[in-house]
Amino acid sequence: MAKGKVYLVGAGPGDPGLITVRGIECLKRAEVVIYDRLINEQLLDAAPETAERIYAGKGRAGHTMTQPEINEMLVEKAITGKTVVRLKGGDPFVLGRGGEEAQALTEHNIPFEIVPGITSAIAVPAYAGIPVTHRGLASSFSVITGHEDPTKENSSIDWEYLSRGTDTLIFLMGVQNLSEIIAKLVKYGRHPETPVAVIENGTRPDQRTVTGSLADIVTRAEEEQVKAPALVVVGDVVKLRDEIRWFDNRPLSGKRVLVTRARQQASALSQLLAEKGALPVELPAIDIQPLEDTGELDRAIAGITQYQWLLFTSVNGVDAFFKRLHTLGLDARTLKGIKIGTIGPATAHVLQERGILPDYTPGDYTTSAIVAGMQNRDIRGQRFLLPRADIADRALVEGLRRLGAEVDDVAVYRTVPATEGIAEARKMLPSGKIDVITFASSSTVTNLVAAFQGEPLDIGKAKVACIGKKTAETAKKAGLRVDILAWEATIPALVAAIEEHFSK
Ligand code: SAH
Repeated sequence: MAKGKVYLVGAGPGDPGLITVRGIECLKRAEVVIYDRLINEQLLDAAPETAERIYAGKGRAGHTMTQPEINEMLVEKAITGKTVVRLKGGDPFVLGRGGEEAQALTEHNIPFEIVPGITSAIAVPAYAGIPVTHRGLASSFSVITGHEDPTKENSSIDWEYLSRGTDTLIFLMGVQNLSEIIAKLVKYGRHPETPVAVIENGTRPDQRTVTGSLADIVTRAEEEQVKAPALVVVGDVVKLRDEIRWFDNRPLSGKRVLVTRARQQASALSQLLAEKGALPVELPAIDIQPLEDTGELDRAIAGITQYQWLLFTSVNGVDAFFKRLHTLGLDARTLKGIKIGTIGPATAHVLQERGILPDYTPGDYTTSAIVAGMQNRDIRGQRFLLPRADIADRALVEGLRRLGAEVDDVAVYRTVPATEGIAEARKMLPSGKIDVITFASSSTVTNLVAAFQGEPLDIGKAKVACIGKKTAETAKKAGLRVDILAWEATIPALVAAIEEHFSK
């Protein structure tokens, strides 16, 4: 059997955007991914669904694969002909033991490739607003393991040289030994007033930075309970943070935002929030499920030529409708000659992806705007098909009927309360850990509120953010104060409104 190949890939420091193009290419082709604790697990989504994913960090039982065990597994998987990606935090060759893995592969004549990554040593300070070199302040830097106990005899680190030999010192794995490291640096001549930063969870939304000097950083880090993964930067460049801090002082930095949309739809919202620095907490209040009985939908599809209009009011509606068409052995050509309308740009977009340019999207992405827009297109006697959720509200149907249309409102998917997410949100809210609750539909409000079972609605300090007027009304009726309202009913506008609220 032909041998496979192993790619030792650097995953970057945590922000999933900080992997290389080559790294993603390798992941896309992987049959086996062996990954570390510090990599962002979102990256695993880039690998084919069928790829075997093996976690080489600390397991549930507390067992960590040892380096020889990892080496052995790489060899074993490659020998069976598999394309293996070994995904490692930061750069594989910076304090990452990637060299040992390459040695093991060489020893067994297994082809491999090294895909360097962005090391946390440089990227994490950058995300804290600290350049590792800076004209006039630092012209060299060292990256050092802090794992080694500095008090041990025969240290492999030359502390005396290190203390004065380079300008900026970056310690990885140094939180545990922080006080010993600092003591050594001072002992060998670093000025006690030298600025120091300890950066936890760098490049991630929950990045935290504690600053001080060699004299007080140990106390400061203890007070702030800094935990791994964290790195330590020592040197005058730390001062620059005051001036060029950019990542952790954005309006939504570190804000916990509850995402109540259905699991299938949550990621677009979460991603936008994360880009603005927020920490999305996905606890769906609704769950989207396939129909139990497709009889009515199938009849509508069989008689599709009788309709002049097809109106989609959600991305889910489009997805479910086409899924059913395909199951029935049909495709978009079935819809030839029928006018197609959508409620908003996201729905229009998914139709476009299916090769269909919608004939109509109202200017304001609401039910009432659809009806208003239809007023000047004579729709009397025209037949409309509305493939929607089973619990969609009646306003659209009634509005169109008032204009003389014949409307078939047909369920294409079911919306049910997501009990698990709701129970979790109900528990979490009173604790005050959530800064914002987002509601992208009335049913998410209704479901979440129902979890309080008539008890007072204690949502802690959370602000309520609604996607549109109808959702806001539902929230108000339920006894919530609506703090944030999107200017149009889209996810980007919802996120922009939240951002604006916190910039004030
Ligand atoms: N090969 C990796 C380093 C592995 S050693 C790289 O190039 O980045 C692991 C250490 O890296 C951690 O103990 C911590 O000191 C540092 N580290 C990794 N990711 C980090 C992050 N997101 N924030 C802060 N420190 C991080």
